[in-house]
Amino acid sequence: MLPGLVIRSSSIHAAGCYTMRRIRKGTPIVEYDGPRFSKDEADERYKDRFITYLFSTGNRGEVIDGFGTAMFINHCCDPNCETENLDRRIWVVATRDIAPGEELTYEYNLHDSDDDTADCHCGAVKCRGTMFSEDEVKRRARRARSKARGAKS
Ligand SMILES: [Zn+2]
Repeated sequence: MLPGLVIRSSSIHAAGCYTMRRIRKGTPIVEYDGPRFSKDEADERYKDRFITYLFSTGNRGEVIDGFGTAMFINHCCDPNCETENLDRRIWVVATRDIAPGEELTYEYNLHDSDDDTADCHCGAVKCRGTMFSEDEVKRRARRARSKARGAKS
């Protein structure tokens, strides 16, 4: 993890992660670290919990149960970071130069979720209004249309 990261209240959502130092584009900033288990196991563990910090690694249903600084990084539709799989570890990497005092953000691209609580309030000019991925938005629109027609899905 880079030095100079702080957690403080965020205008996007609850708490956020800010940098006190300039970060150059392409710099790995912080690892999305925590215990790893399967999606099924996560569903079982967190079936009664409303908020989770699970990160899908894209590795045969494996998820990381976020623990540490990275779990405070908020979603934004116009982010300054992205997540990269570097040697099977997930890093939050700067996608542009980031100035001191800026909040770190990346696109959550949520998918495979049955809840509808992924509304986005990031405040970006091009906010999509949701933290779901483009594909998930399309999938949901299709499902809504087939429901409206009364088709079984
Ligand atoms: Zn947004």
